Amino acid sequence: MFFLKENCIHNCIIIGSGPSGYSAAIYAARYGLNPILFSGPNPGGQLTYTNDIENYLGFPESIDGISFMDNCKKQALRFNTKILNKTINKVILSNDIGGTHRVFFGKSQDYLDSIGIIIATGSSSSFLGIKKEKELVGLGISFCATCDGFFHKEKDVAVVGGGDSALEETLYLSKICKKVYLLVRKNYLKASKILQKKVFEKKNVEINFSSIVTEIIGNDFLEGIKIFEKKNKTIRTVLLSGLFVAIGHIPNTDIFKNQINLDNKGYIIVKKGSTITNKPGVFAAGDVMDINYRQAITSASTGCMAAIDLDKYLSSL
Ligand SMILES: Cc1cc2nc3c(=O)[nH]c(=O)nc-3n(C[C@H](O)[C@H](O)[C@H](O)COP(=O)(O)OP(=O)(O)OC[C@H]3O[C@@H](n4cnc5c(N)ncnc54)[C@H](O)[C@@H]3O)c2cc1C
Repeated sequence: MFFLKENCIHNCIIIGSGPSGYSAAIYAARYGLNPILFSGPNPGGQLTYTNDIENYLGFPESIDGISFMDNCKKQALRFNTKILNKTINKVILSNDIGGTHRVFFGKSQDYLDSIGIIIATGSSSSFLGIKKEKELVGLGISFCATCDGFFHKEKDVAVVGGGDSALEETLYLSKICKKVYLLVRKNYLKASKILQKKVFEKKNVEINFSSIVTEIIGNDFLEGIKIFEKKNKTIRTVLLSGLFVAIGHIPNTDIFKNQINLDNKGYIIVKKGSTITNKPGVFAAGDVMDINYRQAITSASTGCMAAIDLDKYLSSL
């Protein structure tokens, strides 16, 4: 068994290597908790998909996502975080105060035991599932208007989706961009009435119901899209600088189902103003517990909170 020694119970296992995981690792290491971090299927997390991070504090000239996450990793290593390039595939979480939690990984079901666990598994954006979409993420295709809207100042963009997030993205972009096409698959909007009213009032937003993006135009970067309009069964081409896909996020919590309290969308429920979950010694940080903000800086902040919450918990035992 990997790392398994009799009575070898760790203080801190961190699941995930995005901003929240590394931030938790740096704080936990500096508290002397000897964290072990599992980097999972996507080392570095979602930021590795982006070319320019312009809104993270302390980087006046912006930084690309891979370099940023590489810096986070180096900083965590500097404080002796043990990083394992493995994915956790099962957890057994104790209900007892001071109880031991077990995480499993690898084909042979190796496992580690720890009194403290920090879950930082993030979320995944839902894709449209069309050709070139994945290749052009960060090259005109985006899942975050707050992150990338600025690159399309005074240009034409489209948002796909009809829920609250899509309308919020639309409103944000309408303040920066020349024109925003809102492309809604259904013939109605799911979003709240108040958001709908705000969007309807925007003069530079064109709402297209029953519209499906069928093709992405552009090879090295996004140049436009083809839209199938169900009503009149026609396809039209729209030239765009940016395409914002806002059809939902899926928190990466499959392995925690039936182990920890999740909300109806699958996000981990934490005690307000903290990272405390319903399981003693288990804390959640970043996008996996945050349906609202989903930013690198908020993820890093809650990673820090999780390490502080864990240290307090261990000290109280
Ligand atoms: C294209 C794009 C551009 C963005 N640009 C910006 C930006 O400019 N500014 C900004 O503030 N935000 C931006 N964001 C949002 C930002 O990336 C996220 O808010 C942030 O990465 C969330 O951090 P996290 O640590 O919670 O999770 P993530 O970054 O999602 O990391 C999750 C980690 O968990 C690991 N993991 C998952 N399952 C397991 C498992 N079973 N076992 C072990 N590990 C596991 C993954 O491998 C990954 O390392 C962008 C997002 C995207 C998609």
